[in-house]
Amino acid sequence: MNTINLKQLEVWFVAGSQPLYGPETLKQVATNAQQIGQALDRASSIPVQVLVKPVVKTPAEATGLCQAANENPDCIGIITWCHTFSPSKMWINGLKSLRKPLLHLHTQHNRDIPWATIDMDFMNLNQAAHGDREHGFIMSRLRMERKVVVGYWQDLAVQRRIGNWCRAAAGWHDWQGAKFCRFGDNMREVAVTDGDKVAAQMQFGYSVGTYGVGDLVKSVTAVTDREIDRLIGEYEGLYTVAPKLRKTGAMRQSLREAARIELGLRAFLSSGDFKGFTDCFEELHGLAQLPGVAAQRLMADGYGFGPEGDWKTSALVRAMKVMAAGLKGGTSFMEDYTYHLDPKCNLVLGAHMLEICPSIAKGKPSIEVHPLGIGGKADPVRLVFDTPAGPAINASIMDMGNRFRLLLSEVEVVPPEKPLPRLPVARAVWMPKPDLATSAAAWIYAGGAHHTSFSQALTTEIIEDFAAMADVELVVIDADTRLRQFKQELKWNEVYYGLRRGFSG
Ligand code: MN
Repeated sequence: MNTINLKQLEVWFVAGSQPLYGPETLKQVATNAQQIGQALDRASSIPVQVLVKPVVKTPAEATGLCQAANENPDCIGIITWCHTFSPSKMWINGLKSLRKPLLHLHTQHNRDIPWATIDMDFMNLNQAAHGDREHGFIMSRLRMERKVVVGYWQDLAVQRRIGNWCRAAAGWHDWQGAKFCRFGDNMREVAVTDGDKVAAQMQFGYSVGTYGVGDLVKSVTAVTDREIDRLIGEYEGLYTVAPKLRKTGAMRQSLREAARIELGLRAFLSSGDFKGFTDCFEELHGLAQLPGVAAQRLMADGYGFGPEGDWKTSALVRAMKVMAAGLKGGTSFMEDYTYHLDPKCNLVLGAHMLEICPSIAKGKPSIEVHPLGIGGKADPVRLVFDTPAGPAINASIMDMGNRFRLLLSEVEVVPPEKPLPRLPVARAVWMPKPDLATSAAAWIYAGGAHHTSFSQALTTEIIEDFAAMADVELVVIDADTRLRQFKQELKWNEVYYGLRRGFSG
């Protein structure tokens, strides 16, 4: 199961003000901010700790806050709110230096106007309605990315939007300094899985290093029979084991080999402190099978994965696993595999050769062995299952030469029309929004990859927040997508990013 714990991370909640109002008012501001911050900390939809920081009243305090946030390794972002007026010039130096994400919460301590008793003192204390506009101006003036959330702080929908931003910030924080490991290179001649790893590290903060598959083989060879026995016991407890793989089955040895690969891979990733990996069926020298169940189960534990050397997808799967920690519904590497073009109901069947994460399994997966057809190795062991119905997203990152593009498609997972007794891989069947013809055309115009990170836990809003933090182009295909407008959006984005970053590439 996903072992990522978001409760060790912090966001800082801070109210902005100024000395003008006198100590009585400032004391009240601090008390009210404390109350709001603590309520956010307790909110079930906010997955991280919310720490309340002292009210910011001066330029030095604003700068100090931002610098402290930059330097604190557990702080993943700050939430600001101007209870009163907080003149924005005093925030310029601090905000200019801030390297953590910012959420501007536009709220008010009191929900209702106290019609019968409201006087000028009350108005002066509760003036976020214009204090936050001054605060917002300076961030727009600085061309700062941030999220603005408007509404009463006890409103569950407001808390959920803050929680979504915290999830995005956790994913972004996780990428900073993260290491991903590639066993071998990309699949030969494939374009979309390749890209500029230097540019990715500059923009996203993670690094990608290649290891010869022989390094992994060493780790796999070192696994003992006792460790294999124990892991097979775990498989037998969790999955329905196909007859061929049972104790007296003809291919029991394949199951032992799969368990050996999982243990070796796990040891390699853990000793190198990697957050995800890629492999490639073209480069398996010394491995008996392409890792199937191993990749599936490592993903379920929170590792990123991309096949065929697809490091961008591996990193994205990992970030989405972090963002989804604790939520209902799984997250997996995915590939658009084949279509159902019945005019009454166009569907996509998503799957891969093997490596779909059992966090999206409906019911108990079965563990099976079948031939692969490519790669020339022994038949690989894999988990086979269907995916539960419900909303989901597919996301993908492509290297467009002068920038990365994050592409997202909203879909609705449906039960397969009929059972798929002969399909030897895990799969999901979905209807893309607004329809297959529009969605697939938009995806293809945008240069979208065939590999994606699929999630039944995350929503578009979380990815939107994440894209803002990463300062990466985001293009969304949803129920409102119209192709003519979508093609224009791609052209406008070309100009926008071109003006900002140049057209080289
Ligand atoms: Mn593939």
